[in-house]
Parts: sequence; structure tokens; C-alpha cells
Amino acid sequence: MVKQGEQRRLWASVCRALRGHCPKCGGAKLFKSYLKQVEACPACGEAWSEVRADDGPAWLTILIVGHLLAPFVLPIAMEDRLPLWLLVLVLALFSTALCLLLLPRCKGVFIAMIWALRANSS
Ligand SMILES: [Zn+2]
Repeated sequence: MVKQGEQRRLWASVCRALRGHCPKCGGAKLFKSYLKQVEACPACGEAWSEVRADDGPAWLTILIVGHLLAPFVLPIAMEDRLPLWLLVLVLALFSTALCLLLLPRCKGVFIAMIWALRANSS
């Protein structure tokens, strides 16, 4: 199927979004606050408020954090060296920090993919 309009490179736009920049041009920030995307890119004018990532970034973040922590958590929990309260405290802090770090990047990836693949619902 041939798409009309400009060519949109998927991986280039995903890489720009991972850095928090506009997936189209990379010339300006994609987010005006932690997770709120700009209405339109000040550099290229692309309208980002129309691209909705919905729950995808949260699911991707949980998937990544779970896979990163599981190989470390299971052996530590099985050896019973740490008190349970300390293990839970460390895991809660570390997983929360990792989620806060990854969530905007995952949202940027979803926005970039939706834009590059022209998968917007509107
Ligand atoms: Zn732009």
C-alpha cells in the first residue's frame, strides 16, 4: 500500500523521541511538562496534540521495568539474606525511579511510532 504525503522514517523519529525531541524534526522539545506533549512543534509546526498514546506507554514501561528487575529480585528473595521490609523498600524505590525515568521516553516512542506509521485515529 502506497501512502500519500511526506516520507516518515520510523527509527529516526523514534530515536528523536527517545531524547525527548520532536519526532519529525528533532529541533524542539516534544513535552512541555513531564508527560504533557506540546500542542505543536515550535520548530516545524507539526501538531502533536492530535497524537494520543493512551495506555501504551504505561504498559511498555511496566513490561520493561518488570523484565529489568526480575533477574535481580528472584535470586535475592530466594536467598533470604535481606529482611523482607528492606527488600520491599529497595524494590519500591528502585522500580518507582525506573518507571519515572522510562515513562516519558516510552510515551515519546509511542507518539513517534503513531506519527511515523500514520496510525493516528483522527
Ligand atoms: Zn518539529
